[in-house]
Amino acid sequence: MNKKILIANRGEIAIRIIRSAKKLGLTTCVIQGNREPDAMYLEYADVIIPVRENLTGSIIFLNPEEIVRLALEHQIDMIHPGYGFLSENPDFAALCEQNGITFIGPSSDLIQNMGIKTIAKKMAAEAGMPLVPGSAGAITDAQVAKEFADTIGYPVILKASAGGGGRGMRIVEKAETMERHFKSAYDEAVAAFGNGDIFIEKYLTNPKHLEFQILGDRYGHVIHLGERECSLQRKHQKLIEEAPSASIDSKTREQMGKLAVKFAQSIGYYSAGTIEFILDEDGSYYFMEMNTRIQVEHPVTEMITGVDLIEWQIRIALGEKLRLKQKEIRLNGWAIECRVNTEDPQNRFTPQTGFIERVFFPHGDHIRVETGVKDFSVVTPYFDSMIAKIIVHGENRDDCIDKTLNALKEFSISGLKTTVPFCRTVLRSKEFREATYTTHWIDSVFTTDM
Ligand code: ADP
Repeated sequence: MNKKILIANRGEIAIRIIRSAKKLGLTTCVIQGNREPDAMYLEYADVIIPVRENLTGSIIFLNPEEIVRLALEHQIDMIHPGYGFLSENPDFAALCEQNGITFIGPSSDLIQNMGIKTIAKKMAAEAGMPLVPGSAGAITDAQVAKEFADTIGYPVILKASAGGGGRGMRIVEKAETMERHFKSAYDEAVAAFGNGDIFIEKYLTNPKHLEFQILGDRYGHVIHLGERECSLQRKHQKLIEEAPSASIDSKTREQMGKLAVKFAQSIGYYSAGTIEFILDEDGSYYFMEMNTRIQVEHPVTEMITGVDLIEWQIRIALGEKLRLKQKEIRLNGWAIECRVNTEDPQNRFTPQTGFIERVFFPHGDHIRVETGVKDFSVVTPYFDSMIAKIIVHGENRDDCIDKTLNALKEFSISGLKTTVPFCRTVLRSKEFREATYTTHWIDSVFTTDM
């Protein structure tokens, strides 16, 4: 394939995308920002595009006009946004479309609609998805929120319609604190997303977070590749993910998967996508939101299905038909992903920056490592602290936990602290082994220090 792909991202995901793009014979291009001019991802690409001198102070991956300008200058055919940055920015996707560059993802309209949670929920309900009891749309003020909360009962959660990354959310335990929480959720939403719309939902006190991986082409063919269990979260940030989930049986998996596919089809979805559900203690599940990009945790799905999701994202963007059929998707064994963040788990997970003197990752035929660093790499304060993901496959869940613990033992790093010791503590716990943990577990048990 004689085409040029620009990866508008950095770190491990840039390298991951380069690998799939090379499989397809594409010429891979990346951008060199001056925030990390010697980053490892640059070594993997065929072409390195430097940023303009006058832009060296900003983060290029957040600048749609400049990325498109560079892409046009270098005759780029397609752009993969990775995750984070502009990956769910409808204006960026539209700008690519207007300039004749293929955006690897769904259309800007789909990104726009799924990016506003109240719209996504409305569309999901129309496709038959169950929703957590809550307001149909945005709530105008704290008084209306109070009246609404009285009808569904406390606790409730206030959420920013345009929110993401766990921001703009507030849990309200009682009517007296509604005013304060409404104001702070609103202020945070305006500051972070430029949109102060807030909606309200019943707050589930012991839920699990499950998400279904979807692949769809431009011709209406959609399949799901099973679920991921993402309840191991610290302050709404995922730390360890598994596929499949021990919290649902095969019948529920089939029901949820069918609903996810039906919803994606009903909105004309194409590309890779993730449909997030919240699972209540009594086994009921509800649609939460849809992410229109590749997720950090996509490798656990790849490990148990053998499907290269990024390769398919690219093929679909090029107009290919999705040749995979639902009945061909088999979930084989178990996979666990541990995120390696340069944070100090013994000091409130404070981000660590500076030189990695030496780093050693585990090896083995059931182990996959996705990383953007090596010996002497510099971890800067400009980007998030995840430097690697260690993904392990096992025959079943117990085997996978044992193998993951062994793999983590092989990991070593000097120069910076990481979340690996924390992951080991979690994997050794009874709650993890028995799969009883919920999204609130880490924050309630490991309140400050490990
Ligand atoms: P974001 O887009 O910011 O990641 P989500 O809507 O995906 O926000 O929610 C993030 C997390 O917040 C979920 O994984 C879950 O832990 C928690 N959460 C969201 N809605 C509820 C709810 N109604 N009840 C309890 N927890 C919730």
